[in-house]
Amino acid sequence: MHEKLFTPGPTEVRTELLQELSTAQIHHRTDEFSDLYDEIQPRLQKLLYTDNPVFLFTSSSTGAMESAVTNGVKKKCLTVSNGAFSGRWHKITLKNGVPADEIERDWGEPVPPEAIDEKLSTGNYDAVTMVFNETSTGMMNPVKEVSEVVSNYEDVLFLVDAVSGMAGAKIKVDEWGIDMCLAGVQKAFGLPSGLAVASVSDKLLERAEEVEPRSYYFNLPLLHKYHKRSQTRTTPAIPQIIALRKQLEYIVEEEGIENRFARHEKLSGIVQDWAKKYFDIFPAEGYWSKTLTCVKNTRGVSVADLNQELIEKHNLRIANGYGDMKEETFRISNMADTSEPDIRGLLATINDILGL
Ligand SMILES: *Cc1c(COP(=O)(O)O)cnc(C)c1O
Repeated sequence: MHEKLFTPGPTEVRTELLQELSTAQIHHRTDEFSDLYDEIQPRLQKLLYTDNPVFLFTSSSTGAMESAVTNGVKKKCLTVSNGAFSGRWHKITLKNGVPADEIERDWGEPVPPEAIDEKLSTGNYDAVTMVFNETSTGMMNPVKEVSEVVSNYEDVLFLVDAVSGMAGAKIKVDEWGIDMCLAGVQKAFGLPSGLAVASVSDKLLERAEEVEPRSYYFNLPLLHKYHKRSQTRTTPAIPQIIALRKQLEYIVEEEGIENRFARHEKLSGIVQDWAKKYFDIFPAEGYWSKTLTCVKNTRGVSVADLNQELIEKHNLRIANGYGDMKEETFRISNMADTSEPDIRGLLATINDILGL
């Protein structure tokens, strides 16, 4: 029996989208593929409020994170870090031989834009990486506020991991001056894993031409060359791209982008009200995510037992806390195409199990 996923990635995928994966294979050097590519492009741009091209990567989101720092940093990168994924981006940067410093706060605590400004004013950096929605802590970082700081520095690129936020919350790429905004489709897009998307600015492409090439697979100028032909550099995950087309049509034309964002906000609000009533919420107030809730386990329940019972008796799966917070927190995702009855049903089941 299929267990319904309330995990913050991968997320539940609608049957209609799964069926798209079994569409007969098409060749990626055909007009048919270019048509597919061209149908996806404007919808992705609409979703991200951008005129920038949006590249497709046949990799998980981590590949696009590598691409950002290997192409976008000539001098030194400043990593804004306050959770597992932002911390990981720092490691990814260093592993690729790219110089980087971390500006760090405790998990779940915001990094003040003024502190970022102070760092940038040294003139040591030419790129900032930041995670929009920290999936490890259920925190939405103030990308807009930070963008106001970063935009004062002409030479500094703004690289944003929006993995668990994109397609669930509004990100105004052009207005916020985001040079690369990346995500994997297995989170708020509600698609099977295997594909990442990223908007890429002219400024980033220019920078990439100046940087000693550090990657072939993730080389942005090379990807751009093929993008202009409505193709990908290498053989892409064609089934996933076909499913992405279907889901983008649904998001943009059927549900509507604003409605989708409003639904995410409403559902996260329901989970957060529940969490406040029975538990507490992990990240600092005012920064709660609209796509998942990281519940602070103030009642000391066994998160492992709770999830086991949800899975075995109810075919529902939530996520334990991230890393060391495995038992101290648990996470409930309302990403992708989750409905209000889905969420209310899950919370009622948890109440039943815990006798709340
Ligand atoms: C899931 C996630 C990642 C890693 O994504 P993969 O697709 O597994 O590579 C990175 N950043 C954030 C914020 C995430 O939620």
